Amino acid sequence: MKSNYKVILFLILSGLIIPTYGFEIHTPLKQGALIYGTLNPDETVLLYDHLIQANDTGHFVAALPTWADDTVTFTRTVQGKTDTLVFSVQKRAWVEEIVNGLPPKKVTPSPQDQHRIKQEALQLKKARESNNYYKIPTCFQRPVTDFKRISSQFGSKRILNGIKSAGHSGTDYAAPIGTPVVAPADGIVKLTHPDMFYSGKTVLIDHGFGIFSSYSHLHEISVHPDQPIRRGEKIGTVGTTGRSTGPHLHFVLSWHDIRVDPEQTINTFSCFQENKKLAN
Ligand SMILES: [Zn+2]
Repeated sequence: MKSNYKVILFLILSGLIIPTYGFEIHTPLKQGALIYGTLNPDETVLLYDHLIQANDTGHFVAALPTWADDTVTFTRTVQGKTDTLVFSVQKRAWVEEIVNGLPPKKVTPSPQDQHRIKQEALQLKKARESNNYYKIPTCFQRPVTDFKRISSQFGSKRILNGIKSAGHSGTDYAAPIGTPVVAPADGIVKLTHPDMFYSGKTVLIDHGFGIFSSYSHLHEISVHPDQPIRRGEKIGTVGTTGRSTGPHLHFVLSWHDIRVDPEQTINTFSCFQENKKLAN
């Protein structure tokens, strides 16, 4: 019996079997990945203190951060009983990137700028509080089709003007000023800002079920808050406003406050390839 238990525990930890009842994960558990799955209506599941919200067919979306450990724990409650579901996580190697030539006051902000940064972060955090549970996004397209290159990858460990900085929260697409930026999925515009300290002209879109996308350093903004938006619709143009060394789009995709890898998401959940219907 004891060795059976060990075998089962091993299979659970290695993700080869999923402890059933209703909770199931249908996509790979990788650091920085969006994950799709299903659960039963009477299961309440928490991940990193976020309630996993399922739609009326039991489908849900969640995410793993770049810093996820070897295993991830979901806390499930069914009829007053709580247990934990532990899955193994595929680790990724994050590249190191050296960025020089940023204005020093943008790397080491003055106390006044630090105050401004805090206010703007709070504004973005508030904008991410949402009750939009209308439809789970099931595919994503690139927000710029006409880009020259990816100038900085998601998750890269950055050294800005010689100072170690947090991992890169998004993907940078280098493109000329004025290149159109489009919505990667349907949603509602939650915030537009004419001049944030780091992100310059900024747009935030709520795609539902905790998924948000943001667009930084824009040259122009062509949407307004509360505007419903369809996938592929223009939201603005590429620019170099805020903390930026040249024209590019800094594109962030997140589930609540957990940033996920945009390129990995677009490749895995492409709108243009045969794609498993994940949440319908
Ligand atoms: Zn960036």
